[in-house]
Amino acid sequence: MIFDVLTIFPGLFSSFLAESLLAKALAKGLLTVNLIDIRDFTNDTHRTVDDRPYGGGPGMVMKPEPLTLALESILKSSEPRPKTICLSPSGPTLNQKMVRQLASLPRIILICGRYEGIDQRFLDLFAIEELSIGDYVLNGGEVPAMALIESISRLIPGFLGKDESLIEESHSHGLLEHPHYTRPPEFRGLTVPQILLSGHHAQVAAYRLAEAMAKTRAIRPDLLARPELEEETVAALGREGAALANKTTPQKEDLRLVMKTVEFKGAIYSVDDEGFLLDSSLWDPNWVEMIRIQEDIDEITDDHQEIMRLLREYCQEKGLPPRVRDMTVVTGFKLKYIYELFPSGPGKGACKMAGLPKPEGCA
Ligand code: SAM
Repeated sequence: MIFDVLTIFPGLFSSFLAESLLAKALAKGLLTVNLIDIRDFTNDTHRTVDDRPYGGGPGMVMKPEPLTLALESILKSSEPRPKTICLSPSGPTLNQKMVRQLASLPRIILICGRYEGIDQRFLDLFAIEELSIGDYVLNGGEVPAMALIESISRLIPGFLGKDESLIEESHSHGLLEHPHYTRPPEFRGLTVPQILLSGHHAQVAAYRLAEAMAKTRAIRPDLLARPELEEETVAALGREGAALANKTTPQKEDLRLVMKTVEFKGAIYSVDDEGFLLDSSLWDPNWVEMIRIQEDIDEITDDHQEIMRLLREYCQEKGLPPRVRDMTVVTGFKLKYIYELFPSGPGKGACKMAGLPKPEGCA
């Protein structure tokens, strides 16, 4: 993934890009960040990038010419035209769903404003989208650009050490995340909730879901009213989980419905009401073997493995498995052949065996 950042303060990015996981990801080549100094595209000795506003008023406005030349210097060598975003407090507010969509793009150009903002004609000329990181005003677009780069980068496969840390995070299934605890078990008289010490995976998962719902209801009830919530929670928690997240605070009884477990050769898996694995990071050869037996498949062939690999790869990138009607394009195998390999079909057979949620279009 490539980010091109147009800024008059490229130095602000130095330590941001030189520390922590981002530095490692840059070193591994998972992403590239090109910093473009807008002042390099001025043609006066003072390298002027701003001027007084027409119509009067306080402050200065960023001139359109240097920005245009800086942007064109990127566009001339990048086909198709990359998504171009101007960080601005008057754009739509960034959320995790937008971050996921942006993370599927190969290249993004970010434009950092300063002063009172940017001459509108530059934005109109290139039909540039605006994006805000929240309802407050910062001095410039550099910090918002960093927020965007960081939120997108951590969704790139391989960026985070453990992929499961993405799965249960705040907003990843439309809810705020449950509270966390680590050692010691007692700190200044406060203890860790007993259930977390029980080692019972399903009960821990149910407890965390209840905590996440209670916290969301108390702090961000607006999240529960969003129409997309169901789609996000179905993907993460299964159908019953989505229904409960939209209802009143769930009771223990309800949670049992969401968190069914199956046990196979000593391993316990939390599954939804149709037996799809809830946490795809727990997918392992033992799970594949269990579904092989359920599906009455004699032997797992290279084609079974290849289909599962491609489906998981797609799901990791897009956040959801492909729709049944898109499976041929995604896997390169005919639908009829997928049915031959997985008797229950691409959804209840292939996706289930691949440890993914039920795909759209699966009966
Ligand atoms: N006069 C502008 C207004 O009232 O909307 C504010 C300009 S601000 C001082 C300068 C630059 O900071 C903006 O052009 C934008 O690039 C960036 N910026 C400030 N707050 C932001 C936010 N919440 N989200 C994204 N960018 C922001």
